[in-house]
Amino acid sequence: MTKILIVEDEPTMRMGLADNLEFEGYEIDFADNGESGLKKILESNFDLVLLDVMLPKLSGFDVCKNVRKNGNKTPIILLTAKGEEIDKVLGLELGADDYVTKPFSLRELIARIKAVLRRSEISDQSNVKDIVQIGKLKINFTTYNAFDGDNSVQMTLKEFDVLKYLFLMKNKTVSRDDLLKEIWGQDVFTTTRTIDNFILKLRQKIEDDQNHPKIILTVHGIGYKLIG
Ligand code: CA
Repeated sequence: MTKILIVEDEPTMRMGLADNLEFEGYEIDFADNGESGLKKILESNFDLVLLDVMLPKLSGFDVCKNVRKNGNKTPIILLTAKGEEIDKVLGLELGADDYVTKPFSLRELIARIKAVLRRSEISDQSNVKDIVQIGKLKINFTTYNAFDGDNSVQMTLKEFDVLKYLFLMKNKTVSRDDLLKEIWGQDVFTTTRTIDNFILKLRQKIEDDQNHPKIILTVHGIGYKLIG
């Protein structure tokens, strides 16, 4: 069962979230301040943490920073207050995986929870394999290295992420919308056109002949498919 920790000092919010998430089939635990939240995250094994930013004893930011400093990779979604734009940026820099702004709809929150859980599952799976061959490249998704023969190939983090996602879905069609959602997340400036250009560049690195791709195929009107 998927275990979620809710760190929230406001009782109504905490209970409301707990009831609804339990109804969705998640196992729930709580903490009502930052200090006990941090302790629970470090001592137990949660699949995801919902972390309020304004908390007694230790702020959500400090909790997040401490969790990551301890090498703990439990996915964290921050619950930020309305209008605190700076919080979102800071939160993501401190290692949070996503954020939702209060007041949020339950539907929005659950969609975010599912997306973050899916991403963390994918990165768990890919850590198992050390090095994979994709087209002419040998790729290590754990260390983010790519080689063409003995030559190191420069790739951006996004390129690794897109390739990893396509690879884990190999031989299945991945829609442009899925790529947008899974990789670009909340970046509103990205369009499906951005993705097409991105794939063109990726092909230059992995295909023998980028004009006749054999690895990342275009599925017309839908998206892409990695053959492997
Ligand atoms: Ca609060």
